[in-house]
Amino acid sequence: MNVVPINTTRASHSVSVRDLTLSFGSLTVLGNLNLDIHDGEFLVLLGSSGCGKSTLLNCIAGLLEPTEGQIFIKDKNVTWEEPKDRGIGMVFQSYALYPQMTVEGNLSFGLKVAGMAKEEIAKRIARAAEILQIEPLLQRKPAALSGGQRQRVAIGRALVRDVDVFLFDEPLSNLDAKLRSELRVEIKRLHQQLKNTMIYVTHDQIEALTLADRIAIMKSGVIQQLADPITIYNRPNNLFVAGFIGSPS
Ligand code: ADP
Ligand code: MG
Repeated sequence: MNVVPINTTRASHSVSVRDLTLSFGSLTVLGNLNLDIHDGEFLVLLGSSGCGKSTLLNCIAGLLEPTEGQIFIKDKNVTWEEPKDRGIGMVFQSYALYPQMTVEGNLSFGLKVAGMAKEEIAKRIARAAEILQIEPLLQRKPAALSGGQRQRVAIGRALVRDVDVFLFDEPLSNLDAKLRSELRVEIKRLHQQLKNTMIYVTHDQIEALTLADRIAIMKSGVIQQLADPITIYNRPNNLFVAGFIGSPS
């Protein structure tokens, strides 16, 4: 009799959230939530304001400690690891750039702190600047950049760290409509080029439908449906999903 190894068909998971509960005092924002994100997947967490998207992302990033449950990244239990040791890069809605440093300084700061060699830092900055088309901006300070340019630099800071997983928390919501659609295309291109895992939080249905490999629709801390955009649009699980995504039901 042939023995079939049981692991050969298991999809590789980049991020796994296991039985995650997060409470702020008596308010339980996430209750026993489970989610598996595949290697190289673009997963969008979609839901209206206050449903718990940022809380979930912050738990994955290590910025919030779960009340219960575990987080795995690349099959490693990172629940108790520092954010900097998780192999993730995070891009927020507000750019969180150091105002006193140039763009180059912002990009290199984390790498210098980590003790990386100068030549390697220069190489990484050159690559990120080329990918994000911010080469002419390297000697400027954040105050001299537009919102879209600042957000490119914020993405660049994750890019230079060569992380496995990118976490985006509503990165485009402070931008005007034109810039938003431009940067949406850019982020999509970045994902196609890097092929890394991206978890992207938004309340914007269009962003979700155009960017995602799969969408997880959340309401009150509970995932209502997890599927590819076409399935979500054509076959919503329930009236909430149908109403939120604007599909006929
Ligand atoms: P979203 O990102 O989907 O808009 P959040 O994850 O930020 O939602 O928030 C989910 C819920 O948790 C909201 O009701 C919010 O008020 C609450 N919340 C978030 N952060 C805290 C905190 N630090 N202390 C208490 N309540 C919080
Ligand atoms: Mg949020």
